[in-house]
Amino acid sequence: MPRIQLEEVEMRLSSIQCAICKTNTFGIDRRTLQSDGECRGVCLKCRYSFPVYTDMEFYVRTQPDIPYRLKEISCPNCQHRGVSLDFRITMSVRDAIYFVTCTACHTQFPERSSLEAFE
Ligand SMILES: [Zn+2]
Ligand SMILES: [Zn+2]
Repeated sequence: MPRIQLEEVEMRLSSIQCAICKTNTFGIDRRTLQSDGECRGVCLKCRYSFPVYTDMEFYVRTQPDIPYRLKEISCPNCQHRGVSLDFRITMSVRDAIYFVTCTACHTQFPERSSLEAFE
């Protein structure tokens, strides 16, 4: 599974809103990129930054319940249940978001993760 390109991460972040100023233009600060695929996303308007995790292969391997959760997520386009996880972010303490792709029609969409809400 090749790691997602940062350009694609930036593009797909525009489907969500900044936790602070509610705009949807983000960049990835490339200086923050670590060898484990973690980096910081930055709101281009208010400079709010948040962690972005791109190594989903490792994440899924270490979180055994994630594959089951991914099977339960339904696609807003075709209602198919089952997605693949591309990357995830933690927008705020209570707001973790998965960026997923429908395995049936390949629609890409963000999904709030209630699983991490209480960590
Ligand atoms: Zn902002
Ligand atoms: Zn679909």
